[in-house]
Amino acid sequence: VTAIADPVPDMAADDRPVADTPDTAVADRPIPGEPAGARLLAGSPIAAGIRDQVAGDVEAFRRRHGRRPALAVLRLGTSPAFELYARQIVRTCTRVGIEPRESRLDGRRSVARVRQRLRELSLDPDVSGVIIQQPFPRGLSLGDVVDALDSDKDVDGITPISAGRLAMGLDAFSPATAQAAVEILDRAGRDLEGLDAVVVGRSNVVGRPVAQLLLRRHCTVTICHSRTRDLASHTRRADVLVVAAGSPGLVTGSMLKPGATVVDIGINVVDGRIVGDVDADSACAVAGAITPVPGGVGPVTNAILVRHVMIAARRLAERETRARRS
Ligand code: NAD
Repeated sequence: VTAIADPVPDMAADDRPVADTPDTAVADRPIPGEPAGARLLAGSPIAAGIRDQVAGDVEAFRRRHGRRPALAVLRLGTSPAFELYARQIVRTCTRVGIEPRESRLDGRRSVARVRQRLRELSLDPDVSGVIIQQPFPRGLSLGDVVDALDSDKDVDGITPISAGRLAMGLDAFSPATAQAAVEILDRAGRDLEGLDAVVVGRSNVVGRPVAQLLLRRHCTVTICHSRTRDLASHTRRADVLVVAAGSPGLVTGSMLKPGATVVDIGINVVDGRIVGDVDADSACAVAGAITPVPGGVGPVTNAILVRHVMIAARRLAERETRARRS
């Protein structure tokens, strides 16, 4: 009988911790007003480290190729939530020297037109990466158009090819938010191997890819979702808990294992304030470390996205060189 090896993939290039960002990038300070215990896993220092590295890589790319990497932002209509996100992305691109390019589809937005635009952007040698407005306007769905995007330019990991490669443990762009959550965990000073990790949420953009990335870190992963019975019985077992449900205060301190590391991806507006999915006050008294909302996963997400654009630009340049030689 031939033993079948546990498929332990090599980490994707963009999946490795950024070497020059020390673990101490995570602020080791208590949450204001909290007696002890929970460390605040602040995203901003991590994001700054990633941006610095990307800015250096962008400059080296510009010197070598005589152009900058470019990110196309495809807008399909008006979406206040996406506008806010797009503004942050454009600002982060500008900070690191990546050229943001607006691509807008006005007027009648049919599946055929969106697919055509994605094909154009995929073929445009001056576009390194593409992100598409989400949520989609009524009448259009991601699934109808997404395969028209070249997966080499899929810097937010939304194509079936990217998702499939991620699930197989192959080199792939993973969705930036999912990658950001795991990037924070990589720097939280805890060896993830063998830990019980629970992910609350199973969306294609957040929960599922987080679970895949945690599997790559050799965690034992449980995915909970809206039909899960007795959520607390799962979360209480979690050494590492990642919550992405879009439900304010869903997870409270009494649902945590003492000392757990908690990453709160949720962004909710309650009474004009931005809050996460975890009830910060009660969780801080039980958790060992926790990301704040805002200021945790959010800033890291944008930094990861520009890192992906840089990786895509480099790969496309290599592809062009190979094509010229052959
Ligand atoms: P989604 O609505 O697509 O998915 C939510 C998931 O949570 C679903 O799988 C659902 O089954 C699960 N869920 C909902 N209620 C639950 C409950 N009571 N118990 C257990 N599971 C439950 O949302 P999404 O796009 O995955 O986003 C999740 C959250 O993350 C949102 O608050 C969103 O704003 C936030 N988000 C943050 C960032 C960032 O950069 N920080 C990026 C993307 C999304």
